[in-house]
Amino acid sequence: MIKQLAADRIYRGRLAPSPTGYLHLGHARTFWIAQQRAQEFGGTLVLRNEDLDRARCKKEFVEAMIEDLRWFGFDWQEGPDCGGPFGPYNQSERFDLYRGALEKLRSGGFVYPCTCSRQDILNALGAPHEGDDEPIYPGTCRPTANSAFRVPHSAFNWRFRVPDGDSVSFVDGHFGPQQFVAGKDFGDFVVWRHDDVAAYQLAVVADDAAMRVTEVVRGADLLLSTARQLLLYRALGLQPPDFYHCPLTTDEAGVRLAKRHDALSLRALRDGGETPETLRRRFAS
Ligand code: GLU
Repeated sequence: MIKQLAADRIYRGRLAPSPTGYLHLGHARTFWIAQQRAQEFGGTLVLRNEDLDRARCKKEFVEAMIEDLRWFGFDWQEGPDCGGPFGPYNQSERFDLYRGALEKLRSGGFVYPCTCSRQDILNALGAPHEGDDEPIYPGTCRPTANSAFRVPHSAFNWRFRVPDGDSVSFVDGHFGPQQFVAGKDFGDFVVWRHDDVAAYQLAVVADDAAMRVTEVVRGADLLLSTARQLLLYRALGLQPPDFYHCPLTTDEAGVRLAKRHDALSLRALRDGGETPETLRRRFAS
């Protein structure tokens, strides 16, 4: 049975892999939920190739990604291989959209130039950083009330200034009500990199809005990023989608699956004789 959305909304979901390695079972599980939800709502599924990081993304992984997704049983209606009304579907070809979004943030006073490297930030914090998420930016380049910023001569990132103390809340489709505090749970974050590439947070917001995505389904490791992205939606005057975060898949030792778990890449599983049907049955258990 097809579930009903608000009368004026047609469900649009997306799969947004980054071709930095082979897809593994953890991606397949999250994407499978995304596909099921799009189907339940009688909606459209978009495949977006998130190939912004020129140093880490490889053409061979893009080809493998499409082949592995098809083998597994994924079926999308818009994407880099089949086109669609909101293309191009490769992030590397969407520079102008991201640049436009950055200009809006700049003219609204939401961002400032930052020359800090990751190492500078860790040094300024003076303590080893633990955890998966990026450390809270210590504010080294943040303009103060009486100092406007100057655009530096050396390479710099554009960093979004978060409204310290504001809480960002949303109701997640899977985990329920979520609340994060800007400046405490996450700090100022990069939206444009010194090598003239949009950072993940900005690109994904610009794309999800431009591609009219109504629900973002992705891993629970991105919950904090969702809070950051909600601030970007607000700053850009865009309507945010709904969010549905999926529990992360772990290996037998309880370690989160990552692309480095080569034995659990869809390729390796296929070469070892597994079929999509048996793998999908594992999701149910
Ligand atoms: N491309 C991102 C990744 O592979 C996911 C982006 C998202 O779902 O928002 O981690």
